[in-house]
This record gives sequence, C-alpha cells and structure tokens, in this order.
Amino acid sequence: MEKSFKKSEKLYEAGLVHLVGAVNSPVRAFKSVGGNPLFIKKAKGSTIIDADGNRYVDYVLSYGPMILGHRHKKVQKAILKALKNGYSFGASSEDEIKLAKIIVDAFPSTDKVRFVNSGTEAVFSAIRLARAFAGKDKIIKFSGCYHGHSDSLLVAAGSGLATLSIPGSKGVPADAVKDTLIAEYNNIESVKQLIAQHKDIAAVIIEPVAGNMGVVLPKDNFLKEMKVLLEENNILLIADEVMTGFRSKFGGAIDFFDVKPDIVCLGKVIGGGFPVGAYAARNEIMEMVSPLGPVYQAGTLSGNPIAMASGIATLKELKKQNPYKQFELNAQRLEQIIMDAAKENGIDVVVNRFGSMINPFFTKKEVTDFKSAQTSDTEAFGIFFWELIQQGLFIPPSQFESWFLSSAITEEDFEKTNKAINAAMKKVALSR
Ligand SMILES: *Cc1c(COP(=O)(O)O)cnc(C)c1O
Repeated sequence: MEKSFKKSEKLYEAGLVHLVGAVNSPVRAFKSVGGNPLFIKKAKGSTIIDADGNRYVDYVLSYGPMILGHRHKKVQKAILKALKNGYSFGASSEDEIKLAKIIVDAFPSTDKVRFVNSGTEAVFSAIRLARAFAGKDKIIKFSGCYHGHSDSLLVAAGSGLATLSIPGSKGVPADAVKDTLIAEYNNIESVKQLIAQHKDIAAVIIEPVAGNMGVVLPKDNFLKEMKVLLEENNILLIADEVMTGFRSKFGGAIDFFDVKPDIVCLGKVIGGGFPVGAYAARNEIMEMVSPLGPVYQAGTLSGNPIAMASGIATLKELKKQNPYKQFELNAQRLEQIIMDAAKENGIDVVVNRFGSMINPFFTKKEVTDFKSAQTSDTEAFGIFFWELIQQGLFIPPSQFESWFLSSAITEEDFEKTNKAINAAMKKVALSR
C-alpha cells in the first residue's frame, strides 16, 4: 500500500507562508529529488517518524550528529538533568571544561578548544585565526568540499550547492572570495600550482574524507604529500572534521592518514543533536584568540550548558560503546546489499564508504573528486530515493550527501533495508 503524506503536505503548504520554502536549511526541501518534503514528528533509536506516522530506518541522522541513534537513554538523562540547572548563564560552567578535555584527548595535535554554535561558525573562526597566525590572507579550498555557508568559503562548495547547480551564492561580494583559491581534491599538482603562483597563502582547508560531494576518500598519499608541501611553504593545514570527527574513530578521520593538522574544526557529533561547533589547535595558535590574543571571536550562547551536557554524554557513551569496528562491518554489509541489488537489476552503481559514512553513486566511473561525482545519474537517484521512502528508509534527499550509520541499527533494520534497496533498484531499472 502506498504511504500517505497528507499531513506532511498540509504542513508544507502552511510552512510556505512564513518560512522560506517551508524549511530552515535548503537540502530539507527535497528539491533535487522532486516532490514535497517530509515533516518529522519524532524519532527514537534508529527510527524516525513523519507527521503522518510513517516509520523509517533513519540513515540521515540529522546529517551526522545522531551517531548513537535518537534519544539515547543516557544522553536524554544528562540533558534533563542539565535543564533543571538553567539554560544559559553568560558565564563559564564546568561542563565546558569537561567537553574540551574529551576533545583535546581525542585530537593529539590540539591543546585548547573554543566552542561555538555551528560548524559554519567553527570554520570561519578557524580561517580568521589561521590568517592572523600566519600573517597572510589567502586560503586554498577544494572543489566539492563544503565548509559551511560563510562568504569566503561559499565557492565550489559541494552538495547543497552542487545539486542546485549554482557555483556559489548571490550576495557574496567578489571581494569576499578573492582570497579563496580552489584546488582539485586528490590532485596534489593543483595544490603545488597554486602555491607556486601565490606567495601569501595562510592555510589550506580540507575535509580529510570528503562528505559533501558524496563520500570521497583521499587517495594514497594525497594528504601526507600535501602536509609536507605545506610545511615547506609555511602554510597551515585546517582539517574540517565537522562531519568526520568521531565518526570513524574516537577522534579525527585525518589520523588514518598519519597527518597532523594545525587547526581542527568540529561540529555535528560533538553536540549530540544540539548546536555545538568547535575549533581547536595547539597552544601557540589558540593563544592568538581573544581574550588571550588579538583575534576576536565571541558568542552569547557559546558553550551552552544543555548543549555541553548533550555533547559530553554522547561522547562518553560513544567511547564506552566503541562502535567503530561494528560501523565498518555494517557499512560493508550495506555496500554488499546495494551492489547486489544494483547488479541484479543491471544498474551501474559505485559505492564509496568510510567508517560510518557511505553512499552509492549512480555512475560506473570511480568517484575520486567533484568532477567524477558529477557523472552520477541524479534522475535515477530521485527514483531510488522515493521508492526507499515508500519502503520505509530515510536517506538524504540528494545524490551528493553521505548516508550515516548509528550504533542503534538493528537486525530488523537491516532486513527492511535489504528489501527496500532491492525494490528501489528494481524501480530504477523499470524506469529505463
Ligand atoms: C556540516 C558541515 C559544516 C557546517 O556545519 P553547520 O553546523 O551546518 O554550520 C562545515 N563543514 C563540514 C565538513 C560539514 O559537513
């Protein structure tokens, strides 16, 4: 029986009146898969439930933060406890120290942390800090990497922008991006060239494993070679681990490639569903930040006590569960399900994955950068997406977003997933 979306449709109509496109973040509008967006009523564990009461195995997980699944008992308890003490103080509280300690212990190249309220804020603050520390203005970013929506980083910026096919954004002055240089992911030559052409490069920012053009892994020694090159030229490396932090190990994805970043940006998982971002670095760099140094950066709600409690409880439970081996096995299993279903139905699919991040590209080309990601058949993805919805699977409504695994996934979820993916691949085959 076809699912009914009557209530979501009604809410969408109502939402259009006083919200922009009825959403507060563009990918939620389902533009790239067509049709109306779902409205969500609640979620628990690995399951998310829409306004009409339809249940889905959740592979979106709020785009990463809900790594333990929704409303984990221990996290909920910590949040409720914190709520009783007050919501915001405008002064420091002990939990900020605790969360900072957990982060610094997990990221060996860092000594100090500054908390902010989002990944976007973490990254643009880190860029300011890098420029101040290096005494230079230019930065290099990679095509297809997304680092939040601040002006200077809103060029060649992956998923949201990729599927809308706009190169940047209106309203960003040319001057704001004139110091942002663009290199190709997995192409060390493109970095070398920029360094040869420009003398005043402060930093390179990268997603160590890219997750905003679909999942794209760094090749062989790409990160390592780049780090050597940067050291030779006195250029800082900023690892944007907003998505990857605590996702594939208790710490940063960059550790897998044996590279030490100068500054790390975090978000998503470290708030466990609450708005938390952070940037962290060694003392020498962090001491540039106000009140210790001349780089100004502030926030009324930064280090919010409820958000800190959620972050601490999430990371503590994550450390205890240590689900990373299981993530690897589950991602492997999911890949197998997808590849088998694709083969059975004669559909070209390439699956990229890293730890608990995975996604299938509807292409036959190996996906190693933004350009190869773009060879995907987004129309096929749209058909695939909607059949998965019918079958009770919630995946990101874009070919260029990673799916996420949580530690709450069950055997039953896997059975449902297997059935759904087979039905959806069949639907794609029938559409041809
Ligand atoms: C999500 C994300 C951001 C932006 O974080 P927000 O909390 O959405 O502002 C920045 N960088 C990366 C790599 C991300 O995945």
